[in-house]
Amino acid sequence: MTKSNGEDPRSGSRMERFQQGVRKRTLMAKKKVQSITKDDVKSYLLRNAFVLLTIIAVIVGIAALDSKASGKMGIRAVVYYMSTTIIAVLIGIIIVVIVHPGKGTKENMHREGKIMHVTAADAFLDLIRNMFPPNLVEACFKQFKTNYDKREFQVAIPPNETSTMASVISNVSEAMETLTRIKEEIIPVPGSVNGVNALGLVVFSISFGLVIGSMKEQGQPLKDFFDSLNEAIMRLVALIMWYAPLGILFLIAGKIVEMEDMGVIGGQLAMYTVTVIIGLLIHAIIVLPLLYFLITRKNPWVFIGGLLQALITALGTSSSSATLPVTFKCLEENNGVDKRVTRFVLPVGATINMDGTALYEALAAIFIAQVNNFDLNFGQIITISITATAASIGAAGIPQAGLVTMVIVLTSVGLPTDDITLIIAVDWFLDRLRTTTNVLGDSIGAGIVEHLSRHELKSRDAEMGNSVIEE
Ligand code: ASP
Repeated sequence: MTKSNGEDPRSGSRMERFQQGVRKRTLMAKKKVQSITKDDVKSYLLRNAFVLLTIIAVIVGIAALDSKASGKMGIRAVVYYMSTTIIAVLIGIIIVVIVHPGKGTKENMHREGKIMHVTAADAFLDLIRNMFPPNLVEACFKQFKTNYDKREFQVAIPPNETSTMASVISNVSEAMETLTRIKEEIIPVPGSVNGVNALGLVVFSISFGLVIGSMKEQGQPLKDFFDSLNEAIMRLVALIMWYAPLGILFLIAGKIVEMEDMGVIGGQLAMYTVTVIIGLLIHAIIVLPLLYFLITRKNPWVFIGGLLQALITALGTSSSSATLPVTFKCLEENNGVDKRVTRFVLPVGATINMDGTALYEALAAIFIAQVNNFDLNFGQIITISITATAASIGAAGIPQAGLVTMVIVLTSVGLPTDDITLIIAVDWFLDRLRTTTNVLGDSIGAGIVEHLSRHELKSRDAEMGNSVIEE
């Protein structure tokens, strides 16, 4: 039994048995908690209420607008989305360059540059294809996605290393494995939620709402019907909200059990986590409230106080889209934001306006560059800011979507895409925080757009003989 290398084989196997036991127990605990998580009523119902709610809420809101008002509101919303996203990206870049969380890791790791060809164009084309589904039924059950697996990979071996055919092949298969692993955990389809083409549904509902709105008296029965259906769903959401604290507890407990060894870059990863948190906090508690105050001259903290339920739900679900029903409720009932604005700004915002995700993508890409001792020049940093903005627009409002669209950012500057695995360990946590920032960004956007659109809303009210909304 004794081996010639001098090691006692039994102590090795005892150690192995011990480790196996630990792994087994962890797995069992994980399964137990996951089964509770899966049954979590709130999360389940909220996610499934999303499809119905989106269609109806958007139709109801848009039908109450005229095309002139919706056009102006659309432009305001897009200007807000773009400017806040760019500010977020800049904060991410500045903070990661100052803190430099990825310092001095290269020696610990053996990795080579691998570039996968998934471009920003892919994500954008998917986004546009999803915006115009062939029909409504298909939008509910199917979404378009480019098959990233079948793409060809270009492998870049650093010039000072031997580029034998064998290492090229192993690099490619390693990269494929990584992507498959990432894909198994998340749904990497721009604009989709739980396999549903959310963006297609939103575009359809906006068009349908506009048509009903233009029908005047003839459209009234349809308007009443959707109004009452909408009210019923909102009541259902109010019911579901009771489960929130319990649901969140189990969701987070499940993830803590799933946490695995952080490996050689544990220290850097901790610093990276702190850096992302600082960046998100700067954006969420300084930039967005300040912007709200400067434009509306109203107290941002009162507004944010009214959003608390939505922010907690975002933290619990890691999904802007799943949080949408609660965001509507908070904005309309607690903050009194006009539903013609919320129904217009929020559903689109939940899919394309992701300040937290944009900040995180830029920051994470530069962290990966730091870990690899890649010196990024100014042009590359600009490229990262543009692709991080694009990647955040392309990411769906679902858990960890941002992790997948990271591939676009890394590819654009030639960083190794399989290094995404380095940050997976902490992503379950950071995803919650960036989702909360995303929901806050959408909500503040609704408040600002309402303020800027108050004259159009008032004149529409006067036209329809409604009571004038409060300023
Ligand atoms: N989970 C985020 C959201 O739903 C997207 C992301 O992964 O960044 O807003």
